[in-house]
Amino acid sequence: MNHQKQPLKPGLYFVATPIGTARDITLRALDTLANADVLAAEDTRSLRRLMEIHGVPLNGRQIIAYHDHSGLGARSKLLSMLEEGKSVAYASEAGTPLIADPGYHLSVEAAAAGYLVTSAPGPSAIITALSLAGLPTDAFFFAGFLPNAKGARRTGLETVKAVPGTLVFYESPKRLSEMLKDAALVLGEGRQAAVCRELTKKFEEVRRGTLSELAEAYQGANVKGEIVVLIERQTAEDNDEADIEQALEKALKTMSVRDASEAVSQAFGVNKRKIYALALGKKGK
Ligand code: SAM
Repeated sequence: MNHQKQPLKPGLYFVATPIGTARDITLRALDTLANADVLAAEDTRSLRRLMEIHGVPLNGRQIIAYHDHSGLGARSKLLSMLEEGKSVAYASEAGTPLIADPGYHLSVEAAAAGYLVTSAPGPSAIITALSLAGLPTDAFFFAGFLPNAKGARRTGLETVKAVPGTLVFYESPKRLSEMLKDAALVLGEGRQAAVCRELTKKFEEVRRGTLSELAEAYQGANVKGEIVVLIERQTAEDNDEADIEQALEKALKTMSVRDASEAVSQAFGVNKRKIYALALGKKGK
């Protein structure tokens, strides 16, 4: 038996569960599940199975299904249990609650009503992927899932283009190839990136490369499993290129291709022929 019997203070406990390997559960998460007065979960079957694997008895407790769209009914029920002074443990199907998962509204309302809101922390695919991707971890930005539609996805990528940290996305295997293609187009082909698949599971895999290499590698591939995509931040070089393009577009509105190229190459101290070719391309669009 890995859990201890000990009373919990009344309050709401967000319990992190494994993202693959069942033994990644923490001892404190097991204690919390064993001792909470009330159990609630995004997916009641997964929580029941996890408790069975670790020998945590239900002891007659029901598991209440809750996600933020369950409507006010389920949330009010849990809040009224907190009102009665009970300890309520809430778990996601996998990983940390609230991280691309339900729990946000419950957390906000429980805190606003003055109840203890705390957590038994543990696995999350974001942190696991960051520790394996081989990209800087000093600053990162979790962008969640990008929209499914191409236009909205490109706009989403545009929004995070200049974020000064490693970009972290959750992605479905079906859309991975399209996402990598769009990322190469919007963020630049040369950015380093990593595709982390099936973390902590039997077929765990990390593929690293530039966005264009990864887009090519996954083109038409039949990808399975769960995926995190990480992309390095914008470099100074990307930044200059973006500035040059912007300046060139502006100059072309009032000048000939030749004059605009001359002006921009002088302003940025870069090769005139390179700018001229860029300007011709832009004028041709
Ligand atoms: N709450 C979870 C967490 O803390 O990571 C995330 C839940 S979100 C609904 C599910 C997404 O997380 C998957 O589609 C995938 O992008 C990512 N994910 C979860 N488990 C993963 C794993 N074992 N390997 C890679 N990605 C994973």
